[in-house]
Amino acid sequence: MRIPDITIAIDGFSSTGKSSFAKLVARKFGFQYLDSGALYRAVTLFAQERGLISADNAVDPGLRAALDSLEVGFGPDGRTFSGERCIEDEIRSMKVSSQVSPIAAVPYVREWVDACLHRMAAGGRVVMDGRDIGTAVFPDAEIKVFMTASPEVRARRRFDELAAKGGNPVYEEVLANIQQRDYIDSHREASPLRRADDAFGLDNSDMTMEEELAWITGLVQGKFGIL
Ligand code: C5P
Repeated sequence: MRIPDITIAIDGFSSTGKSSFAKLVARKFGFQYLDSGALYRAVTLFAQERGLISADNAVDPGLRAALDSLEVGFGPDGRTFSGERCIEDEIRSMKVSSQVSPIAAVPYVREWVDACLHRMAAGGRVVMDGRDIGTAVFPDAEIKVFMTASPEVRARRRFDELAAKGGNPVYEEVLANIQQRDYIDSHREASPLRRADDAFGLDNSDMTMEEELAWITGLVQGKFGIL
């Protein structure tokens, strides 16, 4: 099946399985995968390491100029790099998760990330996941998906992921972090999380990855008349 050179935007709440789904779609369609959340996480780690965000989430305006020296990229295996340094594990930590939403609410941070995404997606044939890809970053994406799942299902998935990495997560903390990020992401002024009018909804609380893949394949086939 030859898929046309389209952009696929996958948005939704935290830990709905957007990135696993997007990676799978990218592999099946032979597309490039771009993880926009990883860019916000990289900026958060960068701000933390330079003391540009305080414990109560106040962001130092110096972050704006400092971002000129930050270069984030993805390795061939999808791991996130800051310059030469692999930061994949650090950006997934609870420490970064707990401050990423306040960082992502800063308008110039969003501009910086959007510019990165546009640069990286220049060749087309990309699948991107995030919160505002279909509404703000690539409003012309040919296929838009908005993913949801109950907070408890999402917290359990995230908990299992952190535990599998050898961490010692506390379920209640993971659930609270998800609920807090949902709130900040959907109430911030700059590009709040919302479903694009032309996005297809996907509630995967009770779906397997195979079912999700069959669902989007059918969607693309239907839209482009491919058998
Ligand atoms: O997708 P992930 O959970 O890694 O994203 C981390 C955080 O980055 C989200 O909670 C959200 O605050 C922010 N984000 C965003 N817009 C995107 C992607 C992520 O605001 N497109």
